[in-house]
Amino acid sequence: MPAPREAAIENRLWSLDEAMPRSELRALQARRLRETVERAARVPHYRDALLKAGVTPGDIRSPGDVRRLPFTTKEDLRANYPFGMLAVPRSDLARVHCSSGTTGRPTVVGYTAEDLETWANLCARFLVAGGLKPEHMVHVAFGYGLFTGGFGLHYGIEKVGASVVPASSGNTERQIMLIRDFQSDALICTPSYALNIAEVAREGGLDPRQLSLKIGHFGAEPWTEEMRNEIEMQMGLYAFNNYGLSEVMGPGISGECFRRDGMHVQEDHFLVECLDPETLEPVSPGSNGELVITNLTKQAMPVLRYRTRDICALDDSPCACGRTGIRMGRIFGRTDDMLIIRGVNVFPSQVEEALLKVEGAAPHYMIEVDRPGALDEMTVRVEMKAAQFSDMISQVQALRERIQRAIYGITGLHANVELVKPQTLERFTGKARHVNDKRKDKRRP
Ligand code: AMP
Ligand code: ZN
Repeated sequence: MPAPREAAIENRLWSLDEAMPRSELRALQARRLRETVERAARVPHYRDALLKAGVTPGDIRSPGDVRRLPFTTKEDLRANYPFGMLAVPRSDLARVHCSSGTTGRPTVVGYTAEDLETWANLCARFLVAGGLKPEHMVHVAFGYGLFTGGFGLHYGIEKVGASVVPASSGNTERQIMLIRDFQSDALICTPSYALNIAEVAREGGLDPRQLSLKIGHFGAEPWTEEMRNEIEMQMGLYAFNNYGLSEVMGPGISGECFRRDGMHVQEDHFLVECLDPETLEPVSPGSNGELVITNLTKQAMPVLRYRTRDICALDDSPCACGRTGIRMGRIFGRTDDMLIIRGVNVFPSQVEEALLKVEGAAPHYMIEVDRPGALDEMTVRVEMKAAQFSDMISQVQALRERIQRAIYGITGLHANVELVKPQTLERFTGKARHVNDKRKDKRRP
């Protein structure tokens, strides 16, 4: 039998700083914020922006003073392509990464040797919080390259003292062979790729629950609790969520502890705000808003109040694990992923949540939005599970209605639901794409 999912994950801290009393943490944040503003002022973009905002490093006395600082957007980073946002000479860089995104200029991020050391420790923290031990063998199926996922996790795993299998992405059969033959204990990839691995294993006659995987650290794309249950059920491992974005650091900004009730933000390195994306005022505690992050320790390329576009809620209630970092809930969606269909705001994560509640629907779907006449139409193409497919032909209509009802229950919208055969929708090795908005092509330039 596979490792029992209930296997207790020991509550261990990588660093005592994770449990720093909040008063101490706030004093540290204030000092580090002031130092960051000093460093940022070396960057022409920030020198101008700080001047315009009328703020000097000396004005920063508490973490709350972050609200006096200018925001940074992806466009600012693009406008300063490639190295205009560096606060150190280019010769001080130890490594360069880029954010994902396939069109236009990439967003370039730089790291000094000290930044890489910090980053590895931040990844080590959440890996250990999620059960990684030095004796583990870890299969990394995140892409190695400009994307921060592969290298970021790689050095974190080495820091913990575990063994890394730097498999990178692609060639799923080979990945499965390596996981099986090396008896890997942990899997690192996007949640959608974990499901892909499980599926390909089954097709090859191997029950993924028979693999030796005990834990999975997944991130880099939005996923739901329903998706976590699905992965755990299919793979017999214990799945943890972690979050990051390249503009601020990469993975390691936050991650779950054994309680898996939100991801602890590593607040001694990142100052987070949760703001209304329209008014840019803080949302009420516990409400969803846009996450805005300020680096506190980054040397090469500190960013001030970076508008992540990621929507989530923050929870500052104490956690039983002893970590004092505030917890962020799952990323509900991105402001730029939000679909407006007949005036109703819909996030792909809501559709995923709805259809995974329905027995017989596989976690593979594509949302198509179009405006054939005057009104928007949403079509959700959903794969049926192979097991049910053969004996469900007669029940297709019933299944379609159940999915329609579930989507209506969560979004308030009537979607056309098309059920497709198992194995027909596209699979992804990295970040999955779930939306095709045809209305975009129809808009006038
Ligand atoms: P990149 O900088 O290219 O790695 O992309 C970072 C983006 O990936 C973030 O801004 C989020 O939109 C998304 N992302 C990363 N981790 C997670 C996660 N655990 N849950 C949801 N979305 C995530
Ligand atoms: Zn905790």
